[in-house]
Amino acid sequence: MPELPEVETTKRGVKPYLENQTFESIKVRNKNLRIPFNTKLKNKILDSKIKQVSRRAKYITIDFTNGFSVVIHLGMTGNLRVSKQSRFLKHDHIIFSLSSANNLIFNDVRRFGLVYIYRTKDGFYLLDNNGPDPFEQEATKTYLFNKISKSNASIKSILLNHTIISGIGNIYASEILFKTNISPFKEGKDLSEYECNEILKASRLILNKAIKAGGTTLNDYFNADAKPGYFKIQLNVYDRAGQPCKACNSELVRVVQSNRSTYFCKSCQKI
Ligand SMILES: [Zn+2]
Repeated sequence: MPELPEVETTKRGVKPYLENQTFESIKVRNKNLRIPFNTKLKNKILDSKIKQVSRRAKYITIDFTNGFSVVIHLGMTGNLRVSKQSRFLKHDHIIFSLSSANNLIFNDVRRFGLVYIYRTKDGFYLLDNNGPDPFEQEATKTYLFNKISKSNASIKSILLNHTIISGIGNIYASEILFKTNISPFKEGKDLSEYECNEILKASRLILNKAIKAGGTTLNDYFNADAKPGYFKIQLNVYDRAGQPCKACNSELVRVVQSNRSTYFCKSCQKI
């Protein structure tokens, strides 16, 4: 499933092909995504210059000079690619033809992703529900500390709660807590402002590593038949239950918290 690093890499991959271009036409082969593509507004974004391509949490937004935007979420299996070809692959659902004669193509096997047009100033509710991701200026130690200082939820669940902090998936949550020596069971209210800062620092470090790992695949975004793959950083704890901790050699364990697997080291990450 695409996580923040994959989404950031996708954004970086497609951005140079989009900015200052216009969409000349949009071909909809299947509009039934997680939220149906709003075909009725299609004409609103045609022939208007693309001003900006950005990312918030796991959403990519394309802003046009005429005050409209498109938001794209990759869901479980979605991807975007740019191609000159006019022959399309299975599961290519929405195809934007650019003034440069390239196509921006949204492909999604399971269709949990979405492509949706909205008025920029009105915002889009799913986007607005997200707390800042660790790279955003709002994501300060004070913000996180205040947000969780009364919470009985475990820090592991908090990291997966996108209304507090967005863009941290299950794999990265385990890795971040291991990096900071914080127990995944520690409750929000027991975390210090210092620990909140350590968590944010570790989040940026780990996500950046993954973004860098994806940098080498950027060429794939302009490739007629290849779909960009996803990438993994070297993991210290995730999926390593029973194996030795890289820091202390103790056996790593797996537990289930809120129906999600957590991997950690009992010796390094004490409550
Ligand atoms: Zn350890």
